[in-house]
Amino acid sequence: MTVNLLDYDLEGLTAVCERLGEKRYRAVQLFRWIHQKGASSFDDMSDLAKSLREKLKGLAQVTPLTVMSQHISSDGTIKWLFDVGAGDAVEAVFIPEEDRGTLCISSQAGCAMGCRFCSTGHQGFSRNLKTGEIVAQLWFAEHFLRKYLQRDERVISNVVMMGMGEPLQNYSELVPALRVMLDDHGYGLSRRRVTVSTSGVIPMMDRLAQDCPVALAVSLHAPNDALRDDLVPLNKKYSIAQLLEACNRYLAHAPRDFITFEYCMLGGVNDQAEHAHQLVSLVRQYSSGGVWCKFNLIPFNPFPASGLARSALGQIQAFAKILMDAGIVTTVRKTRGDDIDAACGQLAGEVKDRTRIGERIARQRTFILQPMAALNSAVKEA
Ligand code: SAH
Ligand code: SF4
Repeated sequence: MTVNLLDYDLEGLTAVCERLGEKRYRAVQLFRWIHQKGASSFDDMSDLAKSLREKLKGLAQVTPLTVMSQHISSDGTIKWLFDVGAGDAVEAVFIPEEDRGTLCISSQAGCAMGCRFCSTGHQGFSRNLKTGEIVAQLWFAEHFLRKYLQRDERVISNVVMMGMGEPLQNYSELVPALRVMLDDHGYGLSRRRVTVSTSGVIPMMDRLAQDCPVALAVSLHAPNDALRDDLVPLNKKYSIAQLLEACNRYLAHAPRDFITFEYCMLGGVNDQAEHAHQLVSLVRQYSSGGVWCKFNLIPFNPFPASGLARSALGQIQAFAKILMDAGIVTTVRKTRGDDIDAACGQLAGEVKDRTRIGERIARQRTFILQPMAALNSAVKEA
């Protein structure tokens, strides 16, 4: 069986090379060719000994994901749908901003957590992605964007695990992928520029703090257990109090960091002044004096099956003001890529809907070939 070299962090690749009788520096060279230069053909890896290249050809490959479609928003946001086999698809979204380029990637096909306001949750769980499938989203996006923007330097400066799936429910495949992102021989992203977003899988938050303390975003969405039980079913297992204690433990491993609390603004459900005041009390109760969190208010992106509505802008602003007046750093997330369904919670990936994927491949074929020029200018303008 051929191995997928995208499945390995540098330590793993070193072990593969050692099994082939090669030294560690060969693994470093190989890793750099793959992740820094975007190479997938061993023949291109000119400074590797020919004998090693021949050995690798028989045993290994760099396995990309098949791009099913690419959509470009008028604001420069790009969404890719990747085929992960057996009728499953996952999505990644590139969000260009003035001072950074953020890639939002998926960790699972579907999600088992069943949050009420999330279309991925409504689709149900299909399977965990392999490390190589998580990394392949970044590998593809980075090298694709460099080529089409004709840039030699890095395009993606931040990665957020906020696409489809609950990353901490796929822990063993996630951590090597994070290490590839952080490795200086890989994508060289700093620990604070890689964010894992979780609905609150506490035991895995504790493990992540030990193994790879990247930036942590916690999807809070409610200030009390009754409401959170209803919105995020995982809350019935781990209460808000337990979650906030876990956040404090996490920060003990990531000094000078903060937790970002995500809070999806649902009209008439969790967006009232009393909810904001309850959040302020919670933060005061757990912060023991220092600033340790910030809030990111996400205007809900509606989808029909949810039966929920987005809070009015005035309501969101009033809510933000209560938090800010209490000294809590609060931002309201701009919705990006609205016109291509790339916003949070809209990454449905058409899991299980095999027929529609078939149709979509047929429809997208022409689309994929056609908009490269548009991509260039959309991203440059953004
Ligand atoms: N499973 C992880 C990461 C993926 S979801 C988590 O829940 O944190 C990424 C973010 O998008 C989460 O904060 C999630 O609550 C939010 N989200 C999901 N559906 C949304 C929707 N319809 N509108 C706005 N935000 C949504
Ligand atoms: Fe899963 Fe996150 Fe969606 Fe909840 S919000 S269903 S945890 S992807």
